[in-house]
Amino acid sequence: MIETKPIDGKAFAAGLRGRIAEEVAVLTRDHGLKPGLAVVLVGEDPASQVYVRNKAAQTVEVGMASFEHKLPVETSEADLLALVHKLNADPAVHGILVQLPLPAHVDSMKVLSAIEPAKDVDGFHVVNAGRLAVGLDALVPCTPLGSVMMLKHYLGNLSGLHAVVVGRSNIVGKPAAQLLLREDCTVTIAHSRTRDLPAVCRQADILVAAVGRPEMVRGDWIKPGATVIDVGINRITKPDGKTRLVGDVAYEEAQGIAGLITPVPGGVGPMTIACLLQNTLTAARRQAGL
Ligand code: NDP
Repeated sequence: MIETKPIDGKAFAAGLRGRIAEEVAVLTRDHGLKPGLAVVLVGEDPASQVYVRNKAAQTVEVGMASFEHKLPVETSEADLLALVHKLNADPAVHGILVQLPLPAHVDSMKVLSAIEPAKDVDGFHVVNAGRLAVGLDALVPCTPLGSVMMLKHYLGNLSGLHAVVVGRSNIVGKPAAQLLLREDCTVTIAHSRTRDLPAVCRQADILVAAVGRPEMVRGDWIKPGATVIDVGINRITKPDGKTRLVGDVAYEEAQGIAGLITPVPGGVGPMTIACLLQNTLTAARRQAGL
């Protein structure tokens, strides 16, 4: 029987933040450059407020400047666009993140498209998506970036491995597939119309689940010894009425089959903010021509 090892994303993210903090200190000392991240939050969504608070705290912890813009839910699209343009022009701001979801009266795509691509630390702008697709330097969406960082750390060379990515969203599935292709994996992208999904998943040396369906990927969908990256974050209600977070993979069933697996919580999640800081550092360096 295979011994399944968990991938400790929390520890990995702490290590990455430590390295970022060292690089920020050098950048500030040698070049007088303090990377700055602006986060825009519209409305009172409790989950978004927690994310934004965590992002701001970790930004300051690594020595960067954090600029928080909290706007009321009734903020108009025009006012939001005006703020984005102001941040685009602000030399102290190297990265801009507009927290999603935005209220229904705002066209999210329009707002994300207004962000200067060089400051688009979420990597959602079509220019960055295009640059990633054609193999140019790009700001890459944080969750897939963190997932592939961990894969390279644990597996080393990914060349020739068969990666199956379940999910084709613009923020996780597609960029994850692009990054794995860049690492010379053979990549299959599966989605809701894929036929015989279990059989497709069983071919994977690397299985990335980014679906948003609690424990959809069962143990017998996993090839023995495969590495499983569970991106899903799903809150479920237990029979006792309490809630808990689970991933898109049935974690217990994967034990003894997968070689490595990211737990939920504590796997991919912590890497997302760490990669946001990494992207802000990258953006600051590029804007300063370093
Ligand atoms: P989306 O809803 O945008 O995309 C889900 C994808 O899963 C779609 O491509 C969809 O296919 C596919 N899918 C849905 N149902 C099935 C099915 N039955 N079989 C196969 N494929 C299916 O989600 P996101 O990509 O934004 O997020 C995915 C998960 O990752 C969510 O749980 C989210 O909470 C989590 N997440 C976690 C982050 C983190 O920091 N760890 C960050 C971002 C997301 P189709 O295109 O055909 O509809």
